[in-house]
Amino acid sequence: MSVLIFIDQAEGHVKKASLEAMSYGAKIAELTGTTAEGVVLGATGEDLAALGKYGVKKIHHINAADLTHFDAQVYTQAIAKAVEASGATVVVFPNNADGKAIAPRLSARLKAGLVAGAIALPDTSNGFVVKKSVFSGKAFANIAVNTPVKIIALNPNAYAVKTGEGTAAVSILDAAIDAPKVKVTAVNKVIGEIPLSEAELVVSGGRGLKGPENWGLVEDLAHALHAATACSRPVADAGWRPHHEHVGQTGLAIAPNLYIAIGISGAIQHLAGVNRSKVIVVINKDPEAPFFKAADYGIVGDAFEVVPKITAAVKKLKGI
Ligand SMILES: Cc1cc2nc3c(=O)[nH]c(=O)nc-3n(C[C@H](O)[C@H](O)[C@H](O)COP(=O)(O)OP(=O)(O)OC[C@H]3O[C@@H](n4cnc5c(N)ncnc54)[C@H](O)[C@@H]3O)c2cc1C
Repeated sequence: MSVLIFIDQAEGHVKKASLEAMSYGAKIAELTGTTAEGVVLGATGEDLAALGKYGVKKIHHINAADLTHFDAQVYTQAIAKAVEASGATVVVFPNNADGKAIAPRLSARLKAGLVAGAIALPDTSNGFVVKKSVFSGKAFANIAVNTPVKIIALNPNAYAVKTGEGTAAVSILDAAIDAPKVKVTAVNKVIGEIPLSEAELVVSGGRGLKGPENWGLVEDLAHALHAATACSRPVADAGWRPHHEHVGQTGLAIAPNLYIAIGISGAIQHLAGVNRSKVIVVINKDPEAPFFKAADYGIVGDAFEVVPKITAAVKKLKGI
């Protein structure tokens, strides 16, 4: 018995969401009297033994050539092998893009109950019950998982990273994996930008900015803060900004520590993608804009006057 955590990487480095998943999985192991183990797929630039400080006692490393590019089917197979090797009864994923693609496949493969979007530790006082948010964060559901193997996909920012002492034993797992059914022929990366899904700070603009020619306002503030940029859907639909910046129900769901919304009304479909942000700052000239109800801080004012002042203040504070 163990708790197995999928340790997701980007460019050979462990993502923050995986550090949270390890801390979460280690706590479940502690609560259920077992140990936490991790699985890393593909080449890595990490000192795997050092990941022990997040509470994992052992890392299964599968480094087959077919794991170089993310492929949900191949990754699912590899993780299933690690489940077998570790005898895991609980498998934890970060509920990010990779976790969302693999966890349901593993669930079907192992006939294991899955709770996607968990926001708290499981309650094991009477069975195994996991709390998740539903209806875009408007309500909660407590899901009882009754299958022998249980899978949890943990929402980013729902559980704090905890570090301690210790190193993990590293085991190279030589798992036979079927060849991928698809071949990656090219990878086109957006470079020079902070990836939105991983960003701690996000500056976002809406239709209130009137047109793409005014986006310098958003970019200057984002640059000063070292933040990623995002936008509302109509802005992406109009071609003012690329679609990968669109956040909301039909776009990316993000959970940064700070989300600054400039000239965005705060429609429910927009909030669905950003309401897990730790701190929300809204800048809107309409005091009745619905976004103010979801804001931690609100500035009623014209973005064209307010934002340059904030940018100047941030630059002054940072000495840039
Ligand atoms: C099925 C469905 C899915 C959808 N999915 C998404 C989604 O994923 N993401 C998303 O964003 N939307 C989504 N939408 C659209 C959503 O309903 C809203 O229409 C959209 O979010 C509005 O974008 P906006 O706030 O930029 O524009 P608007 O609603 O036009 O709001 C502009 C805001 O800017 C303010 N403003 C104007 N001038 C200034 C100024 N000078 N200074 C400061 N403030 C100013 C205005 O007061 C207003 O509040 C979806 C809709 C549907 C039906």
